[in-house]
Amino acid sequence: MHRKEIALLLDSNMLRPFLEKFFKKRREYCPSYFSDSKFFLNHVRESNPAAVIISGAALKNAAEAVRDYPSLALVGEDARRGILEAIKYQIKSYLLPPYLDVDLAHKLEAVIKESELLVKMEFRRKELEAVVELTQLISDTLDSKELLFRVVRKIAEIIPVTRCSIIKIDWRHKTAFVVASFEDPMFRGVKLSLRKYPEILEALTSKKHVVVRDVATDPIMEKVRELITPIGIRSILVVPIFYRSKVIGTLFLRTSRAQHTFSEHEISLLNSMAHASANSLYNAFLFEQVEDEKTRLEKLAITDYLTGIYNIRYFYHRIVQEFSRSQRYAAPLSCLMLDIDHFKKINDIYGHKVGDQVLREFATVLKKHSRKSDVLARYGGEEFILLLPETAPEGAGAEAERIRACIREHRFKSLKGSRTITVSVGIATYPDPRIKTYDDLISCADTALFTAKNSGRNQVAAYTG
Ligand code: GH3
Ligand code: MG
Ligand code: MG
Repeated sequence: MHRKEIALLLDSNMLRPFLEKFFKKRREYCPSYFSDSKFFLNHVRESNPAAVIISGAALKNAAEAVRDYPSLALVGEDARRGILEAIKYQIKSYLLPPYLDVDLAHKLEAVIKESELLVKMEFRRKELEAVVELTQLISDTLDSKELLFRVVRKIAEIIPVTRCSIIKIDWRHKTAFVVASFEDPMFRGVKLSLRKYPEILEALTSKKHVVVRDVATDPIMEKVRELITPIGIRSILVVPIFYRSKVIGTLFLRTSRAQHTFSEHEISLLNSMAHASANSLYNAFLFEQVEDEKTRLEKLAITDYLTGIYNIRYFYHRIVQEFSRSQRYAAPLSCLMLDIDHFKKINDIYGHKVGDQVLREFATVLKKHSRKSDVLARYGGEEFILLLPETAPEGAGAEAERIRACIREHRFKSLKGSRTITVSVGIATYPDPRIKTYDDLISCADTALFTAKNSGRNQVAAYTG
């Protein structure tokens, strides 16, 4: 049992037997007696007692303790003077002689209860204030990223934590994502493997908040203790976020070793904040999901399904832009058409599936060798196309030769090194009097490729007309 400390300052020993007898019977209290006011005040400042009891004449030396703590005066024989004195020092309650056990018990309990209630109300007030502030903060932004960040920032402002994030749960794919993180905005979008976060999993299944007071000893952390101990985390608090009684995510707070663990008030506060922001968070989650999906679809629309590089549709989009830029600024623009030599044989010998793998690997090698400003795409089948902005014939020739040599040297994993592959490359460069449109540029590169093939393959040829 947690015993409440009562600090007593007595100006004489007369009351001592009565008080000792009283406290002996009531084990919920732990008394400490003082006759010297200086010692008494020092002790009170250090140990924060649940209440102080002061005998009449000592009052004037203990005004500070009377003011700051639940206080009780034992008024002496001169009742009139004693009462006036007690009122002057704003004592919370007092006892008159004859002192009765029940009277002391009743009044002591009353002053302590009153003070506890005040503390509770103060916390409640602060909690409501924080919730109101939070709802105001999130109601004046429509930007979902900003909203999510404001929530974690507000929480970190009120509760001293090292890490504070919002986790979104995707039930369909059984995954969890960090959608906002106060300490590092870069964590946004990071996928969490729930196996490594048993405390989050517990909050999801129990639909209740989970407090890990000490990571080093809590049984729930047993399987991941070794992983998490080096990070220096001491306490964790996971609070579920509900939308229509379904858990859609959690608030996820962690404190470091040097910090305190979470108090009951903080836990209650965080639950209120999760509750107050649930609807907004749900909308923000949905919005983020739509955005992610949009990005995924946009990416899909311009990607070649087999090799993952750009498809021809995107290539056309880019060549239109680059060609007109080139016309405007009279900057050279080169186009390389690449075709794998005798690819049909690869399919015939190893099968179509291996053929596909070779195409993927081929694309990866090309990608590795192209610059950021280049546009590499699959033209179709085993043909690839590479657009080189700001590149004159010499540069394009050197680049094509580099690629040709590189492919020749490459050991294809899918062929287990049993066979090498060669590529033929055709080059065309704008400006050229015969090239008027971007279509001309492509067909000239194609013509050059035909030349390279006819000259024995594994060759680079530039368009000569
Ligand atoms: P060349 O040296 O003249 O280019 O000979 P080639 O065999 O590479 O040329 P051809 O155009 O006759 O054959 C291309 C082959 O590429 C035929 C086709 O089956 C194969 N191919 C095209 N697209 C794919 C694909 O997506 N996957 C696989 N595995 N093979 C493909
Ligand atoms: Mg071909
Ligand atoms: Mg070919």
